[in-house]
Amino acid sequence: MNKSFILNKSGHTMSEEESRFCPYCGIELQHPYWEHVQKKHPDKYSAKETWIKLYEDYRKLGMDEDISLTVISELFNATTEEIKSFLKSKNAF
Ligand SMILES: [Zn+2]
Repeated sequence: MNKSFILNKSGHTMSEEESRFCPYCGIELQHPYWEHVQKKHPDKYSAKETWIKLYEDYRKLGMDEDISLTVISELFNATTEEIKSFLKSKNAF
């Protein structure tokens, strides 16, 4: 996975102000981020199992737990609590 999707154009790691990129096709996302995933990657959007892979990828890239959960919540229009409890149920958190 290319690291660029969590970086902005100046190469800094993301914050609330910075760009987000689709983890599947790499395009820069507009608010609300989940709308793109829902429209363009409906198979990913509808399968909670994709959260596990994304979470593992983000953690491997050095993102902390809270940021990883926040990014996933924005991509899938879910709450961080929902994601955390799902990951816990799969022993992935
Ligand atoms: Zn995409």
